[in-house]
Amino acid sequence: MVNSSFTDAYMTTTLDSMMNWGRKFSLFQYPFVTACCGMEYMAVACSHYDIARFGAEVPRFSPRQADLLFVVGTISHKLSPVLKMVYDQMTEPKWVISFGACASSGGFYQNYATLQGIDRIIPVDVYIAGCPPRPEAVLDALIKLQNLIQHEGPRGIKGINPRAVAFDKDPSEQKDKLT
Ligand code: SF4
Repeated sequence: MVNSSFTDAYMTTTLDSMMNWGRKFSLFQYPFVTACCGMEYMAVACSHYDIARFGAEVPRFSPRQADLLFVVGTISHKLSPVLKMVYDQMTEPKWVISFGACASSGGFYQNYATLQGIDRIIPVDVYIAGCPPRPEAVLDALIKLQNLIQHEGPRGIKGINPRAVAFDKDPSEQKDKLT
């Protein structure tokens, strides 16, 4: 039974605050998983860590239905245009978490084939350190992102790292521009 005093209660807030509260607890994620960090990603979704407690358990394998991009694992230059296309096709507002050393910096793959950090081609909101990161670190990053969404909301069209390289429509030119 609801106490009758509740019926007289009211609270005030702002529309932005209410919208951001809804956004942060209803993240639809797109997992862009390429390598061994994927095992830790799966652990986060399983019952022991249970990402559902944070309202972010629903993976969507169409970028048009997702607003949180999890980039998990090594990204090669060959794969970079695909990642960029997935990001571009996601709904606004959207956020990105860079999952692990490889996605964040290329990790120990300092070679001609590996992108040295996804922030060269797409904006990143939260980075997770580790090779691989523990599930606790992933949940910590998710909570940080939720705080970011609550306090800053959609940040509009975000810039990318100054080292970023623009993509042309011609795929044959992309490799040269990324190296
Ligand atoms: S950070 Fe480590 S565990 Fe993750 S994809 Fe790279 S090599 Fe694999």
